[in-house]
Amino acid sequence: MTDNTVAVLGAGMVGVATALELQRRGMAVTLMDRRAPGQETSYGNAGVIARSSLMPFNHPRLWGTLPGLLRNRSAGFCYNPAFVAGNLRWATSFVGNARQNIFAETTAALDGLIRLSTAEHRRLLAEVQELQRLRDNGWLFLYRDAAGFDGPGAELGRATMAQFGIATQTLNAAELQDLEPVLKPVFAKALWIQDSCSVDSPGAVVRAYADAFVARGGALQTADLRTVRHAGDGRWQVIDSSGAARDFGRVVVALGPWSQKFMAELGVDVPMGFERGYHLHYAAGGSGALQRPIYDTAGGYVLSPMEQGLRLSTGVELNHCDAPMKPRQLEAAEASAREALPLGERLEQPLWMGRRPTLPDSRPVIDEMPGRPGLWLAFGHQHIGFSTGPGTAALLASLMLGDRQLPLDPRPFRASRFL
Ligand SMILES: Cc1cc2nc3c(=O)[nH]c(=O)nc-3n(C[C@H](O)[C@H](O)[C@H](O)COP(=O)(O)OP(=O)(O)OC[C@H]3O[C@@H](n4cnc5c(N)ncnc54)[C@H](O)[C@@H]3O)c2cc1C
Repeated sequence: MTDNTVAVLGAGMVGVATALELQRRGMAVTLMDRRAPGQETSYGNAGVIARSSLMPFNHPRLWGTLPGLLRNRSAGFCYNPAFVAGNLRWATSFVGNARQNIFAETTAALDGLIRLSTAEHRRLLAEVQELQRLRDNGWLFLYRDAAGFDGPGAELGRATMAQFGIATQTLNAAELQDLEPVLKPVFAKALWIQDSCSVDSPGAVVRAYADAFVARGGALQTADLRTVRHAGDGRWQVIDSSGAARDFGRVVVALGPWSQKFMAELGVDVPMGFERGYHLHYAAGGSGALQRPIYDTAGGYVLSPMEQGLRLSTGVELNHCDAPMKPRQLEAAEASAREALPLGERLEQPLWMGRRPTLPDSRPVIDEMPGRPGLWLAFGHQHIGFSTGPGTAALLASLMLGDRQLPLDPRPFRASRFL
């Protein structure tokens, strides 16, 4: 490779991990973002790195719950009908992919990506001396009644985890109380997913990785990026909103939910849904402390112990990427969480909102853009981009550098699925 310059566009977990990995592989990398690293989706997530996340939202049992979800009253899911109507290609394809054969491909692909990423996170956290942020004690799915635990989606989830050898333990109410004494006795059953870990500040982890990238000689640039275009000789020119242009041998688009808008400037229509979610931080209300993230399946929220306090994050609001925020889902989640444990006062205003960028088969794109050599894509990481940034980086770097042996099967992540 004669020109080893690469611009990585977007400094969320995916972009930062990709920049670090390409740098490690000897490329001259410039990381560009309009904000400081890890300030958007990769800041506000629940910080869970879980093997259970191989289970996509569009699994085959979705068909049974779809009529209920379409009523738009579910705690963990709501949607803007205008968004769905305006994005029918994405919506029909997303639901259409809730089939056994696609599910089998997706779970296998995501399991590989999550396992690789978890190992990479451990290596990186050790290198940047932030391993203390990693809690290795799993997370909990909580069920208020036996019907929830026995529901078709929950049952498929357990069968899938068993199929992939993911360590879990079913807990009754007393066992749950022993494990998490801070919880009120409102849960009849729980599934403890032991094969998972979590961090106490996802944003701080991204910042630490970005600091390491800069300390190792990487260039970090603030730029509001507009588009890219061919610069001749197979090179690419990155253009910002002031019109300034810079040439690179290669470009990686890792703009998370904004990748769709960016690619549209190039005439490429990316079918992407925006599964928006909110968070707020709370003080602990009682004397005990929550030890690990919990997912209250009926309440539709996740509560994670964070450096900033207890982070309450909501399920899915399917809506336009930049539509105004709606606090309704967070308020309902707060009411449910107060039933579950003694939650103190709100610690942070204003409300935070992020967008999970989701492609129709719930797998990210990790590939070179067909027909545009040198333009690489790394986006569409839905609910698991904080976890899977480092595995994405390892696969993308291997593909870009033409490794004979790849760390993962690249086929499930190919751009030609949609583009
Ligand atoms: C409520 C919630 C909870 C979640 N919980 C988890 C979890 O527990 N575990 C997990 O693994 N994942 C979780 N996720 C998903 C995860 O946060 C995302 O998949 C991941 O952060 C996506 O990372 P990214 O780098 O692709 O995007 P981002 O982090 O959004 O980064 C994109 C970057 O591009 C920049 N950018 C965009 N447009 C431009 C432009 N024009 N010019 C310059 N810069 C630009 C932005 O400033 C941003 O820094 C959660 C998400 C939400 C919303």
